[in-house]
Amino acid sequence: MRLTVLGCGTSTGVPVIGCSCPVCRSTDPRDRRLRTSLLIEEGSRRLVIDSGPDFRAQALRQALDTVDGVLYTHGHADHVLGLDDLRPLSFRRGIDIWAEKNVLEQLNRMFPYAFVPGDGMNSRPKLREHVIQEGERFEASGFEILPLRVVHGKDSILGFRVGRAAWITDCNEIPQVSQDLLKGLDVLFLDGLQERSHPTHFNFEQAVVMAQKLGAGQTYLIHIGHEIRYKDLLKRLPAGIEPAWDGLTWEDKKAKKNRL
Ligand SMILES: [Zn+2]
Ligand SMILES: [Zn+2]
Ligand SMILES: [Zn+2]
Repeated sequence: MRLTVLGCGTSTGVPVIGCSCPVCRSTDPRDRRLRTSLLIEEGSRRLVIDSGPDFRAQALRQALDTVDGVLYTHGHADHVLGLDDLRPLSFRRGIDIWAEKNVLEQLNRMFPYAFVPGDGMNSRPKLREHVIQEGERFEASGFEILPLRVVHGKDSILGFRVGRAAWITDCNEIPQVSQDLLKGLDVLFLDGLQERSHPTHFNFEQAVVMAQKLGAGQTYLIHIGHEIRYKDLLKRLPAGIEPAWDGLTWEDKKAKKNRL
């Protein structure tokens, strides 16, 4: 199994439109953060977690020619607005999408044309919807996925564990029951927005505390804002915790042996 960070940026992306702060003006490619999304691959099987407004750019950069399915963490714009750009990848075989019921309802409201029943002669995305629930494992394109609950301000959304890896974006709290399901990870991707505290995201300090509690072999922070450069954040994080960057890949050669 191979994981590729398609984007590790906060909702605005970095650089932020109209901002001339040092991070937004940085020439380090690791300071350019597209909206948060992950690619999961094994052989020719490919899943994506979330399709935000940067999905088109991410798919082109990654030269994606197929995607079997998309797992949605929640319905916020920075995680779903690229749904329409699934179209060219969906025409041949269709694309499966997995999300909680309320998120699928939200997607239906945001993109009603994409969910009109019947094939029709048109250029709509061809999507197959699947309802998922926290704590209930499911198979997606041959990957065994465990969705788990995390708290995102007033919302409660999903994180995903696949094998000994987990992707936990957009959260300011992880309930104990989910923490218990996040033990024994080789790699954890975890929300870490900024220095200051925030009502719906872990700040760096909270992310570090949670990462150390969960004890993954390696933790990468995601959904990062424009307050700090990659290299400065890297310096101040403890061993085993690093900021992610767009294009980072992680390979689990033991994945087959280490099914959940
Ligand atoms: Zn977000
Ligand atoms: Zn900025
Ligand atoms: Zn969100």
